Amino acid sequence: MFCLPDEIKTVLNKLESAGYSAYAVGGAVRDMLIGRQIHDYDVCTSAPPEDIRRVFADRKTFDTGLKHGTLTVICGDYPVEVTTFRRDGGYSDGRHPDSVSFTSSVEEDLGRRDFTINAIALGADSALTDPYGGREDIEAKMIRCVRDPRQRFEEDRLRILRALRFSSELGFGIEENTAKAIRLSKELILTVSAERVYSELCRLLTGESASNVLVGYADVICLILGIETGDRFTDTAEKIGMLEPDPRQRLAALLFDQGEEKAAAAMRSLKAKNSDKTRVVNAVRYGGADVTTVPELKKLIGRIGFDTAKDIFRIRSLFCEKAKELYLMTGYIYESKEPVFIKDLAVDGGDLSAAGVAPGRLTGEILAALLDAVTENKVKNEKSDLLAFASSLMKKKNE
Ligand code: ATP
Ligand code: MG
Repeated sequence: MFCLPDEIKTVLNKLESAGYSAYAVGGAVRDMLIGRQIHDYDVCTSAPPEDIRRVFADRKTFDTGLKHGTLTVICGDYPVEVTTFRRDGGYSDGRHPDSVSFTSSVEEDLGRRDFTINAIALGADSALTDPYGGREDIEAKMIRCVRDPRQRFEEDRLRILRALRFSSELGFGIEENTAKAIRLSKELILTVSAERVYSELCRLLTGESASNVLVGYADVICLILGIETGDRFTDTAEKIGMLEPDPRQRLAALLFDQGEEKAAAAMRSLKAKNSDKTRVVNAVRYGGADVTTVPELKKLIGRIGFDTAKDIFRIRSLFCEKAKELYLMTGYIYESKEPVFIKDLAVDGGDLSAAGVAPGRLTGEILAALLDAVTENKVKNEKSDLLAFASSLMKKKNE
């Protein structure tokens, strides 16, 4: 027996009292049946959009996409998306239906959904409507398209990647025909908007079963990343779960041996935001840095930052025991708050200027030299010591 939270039951009851049918549907029902944490609720109903609005006139609502039939109703702790039962018209752009029409049949609404596990409706009376065998597939831990996979992937190409993402997040296998269709249709992913691909890919990379999906569907993932499949990719993919659950570190790992240019091209084509791009590309660019001593490590961190340095040594430690020490050492340096960046010095440009250094390029050069000296333990990070060291540097320069 599955029980919806009272707030959601109230939403369903209100719609039913107005003469319509209404169900919880999608991810919430799937996750409830699996026993996973539920993060948001979707409700579908036979009520047309304007009637949904009328029924919830006394509630706080957001017009999420009323023309597609969706209104967000705020119910206690939950924002609930309430959507009119839909059937999708033809698809000609490979992503969005050309038209949607409303229907009074929940079965029809479930028939437009992507996977059987996402096509189960749950009523306020706890009865399940499950025309595509979603429960059985949950039992069997299986991702299976609703209806013909080839056609469903051609209609909406993002579904190809959603299948892999769900497989990774839920640890489910992919049913044979759906898997075949993924391989046959994979090129279609290249036409989907980069932002959507990147966001699905990030979720896939941090899923519990990321490594199974990366190994099993290396052809699809490499196509998205614009790199070759091969032993190197597989070796890293097998170990991806040993990395932090951060998509940027995991992407850097997959691109680690590809060189800076390919990594940059991959991040560009995914339209990743600049900070993600920099972090991944720098990890690849400086990935081979020859670091053995603490001062060398500090200098590297000063150049690329703690996050990227940790990425590099965490990735290197997949294949090299010694890199583990550098990874740990990076953490100690972070904790110790020892200076690694110019901003960590006990003097700044103003102090140097007060001591007679002309502002401008020279200031930058001296600050960099001071940081090097502190890093190499030649001078203490204290204002008087640094100013004395700076003036000795100036003297040398003027000789
Ligand atoms: P999660 O929120 O954990 O990503 P979800 O199943 O709730 O999982 P959403 O993207 O929130 O996924 O979509 C809600 C529901 O809408 C899905 O469960 C599915 O029934 C349907 N759906 C979403 N995207 C598609 C799609 N591209 N094609 C067909 N049905 C879809
Ligand atoms: Mg959802």
